[in-house]
Amino acid sequence: MQNNILEVKDLSVGFNIEINNKDQFFYALNGISLEFEKGKMHALAGESGCGKSVFINTILKLLPKNAKITSGEILFENNNLLDIKEEDFRNIRGKKISLIPQDPFMSLNPLYTIENQLLEILNKNDDKEIIKTALEKVKIKNINTVLKSYPHELSGGMKQRVIIAMSIVSDSDLILADEPTTALDVSVSNSILELLSELINSGKTIILITHDLSIVSNYCDRANIMYLGNIVENSTSDKLFKTPLHPYTNALLKALPDKKGVKLQNIKGQISPITEIIQGCKFHPRCEKATEICKTIIPKKINMDETCVMCHLYDKN
Ligand code: SF4
Repeated sequence: MQNNILEVKDLSVGFNIEINNKDQFFYALNGISLEFEKGKMHALAGESGCGKSVFINTILKLLPKNAKITSGEILFENNNLLDIKEEDFRNIRGKKISLIPQDPFMSLNPLYTIENQLLEILNKNDDKEIIKTALEKVKIKNINTVLKSYPHELSGGMKQRVIIAMSIVSDSDLILADEPTTALDVSVSNSILELLSELINSGKTIILITHDLSIVSNYCDRANIMYLGNIVENSTSDKLFKTPLHPYTNALLKALPDKKGVKLQNIKGQISPITEIIQGCKFHPRCEKATEICKTIIPKKINMDETCVMCHLYDKN
């Protein structure tokens, strides 16, 4: 895994869910295999409910008790994260791998000042310069005031900058950003995404979860399109936007509000809950190109050049 910081192999995860007083097991991730090259911004994109957050929480070992990993490996620095005990994983989570959450308030302790929370990461009291440098990097101007503040005294954008500063202070190699701009207005969102791009320039690797393909187009090197627990298309961002292959990718692109005079097209239907068992291709109830085979046979992953696509349309055998 020389050039990759993270390799995920055949990862399947499901949940025990009680239905009619009986526990039943439903898959949320189905044999995901992905490689994440160092120093790149990788997108994981798709609608809500497609399994993006389950994927991130599996990497961070933050799954709820009713979840079960039934197969797979998550290789980070040549170790399978799934084999690491919780007490040892505390040296990885928040240190080597950090999370930028959707709601930054959830990651900050309301009882402590920003300064105390940043110093806690370093475990020393004499490293104020390191945290000041980190706050400068995330373009916080009134540093001394922010350091003395409690989380509730900061705006959403400022809190998200502090969270990004925390991952700089911890010197994490891998940053998982889970819809980091959802709670922010457009101009603040853009400045946060610019900050993430600057982290890439300084050698970090970011996995960015988003439902917004315009963010993928503007900021990400590789794009992984996810639908109901499968990666249905995986390519460079350039290729994905120039020649999208999977009907779901095409549908997401047609729903993007960027073409002058072109009427936006909604994707037919809605994403199903994981408790609904769909035979064949999971996208077939919503797919305009579906044929009979799609209703019964799960499509294979087809490798084509730098792209991998999971759709019968490209299976020539
Ligand atoms: Fe559509 Fe069939 Fe391809 Fe699934 S396999 S995306 S239903 S054409």
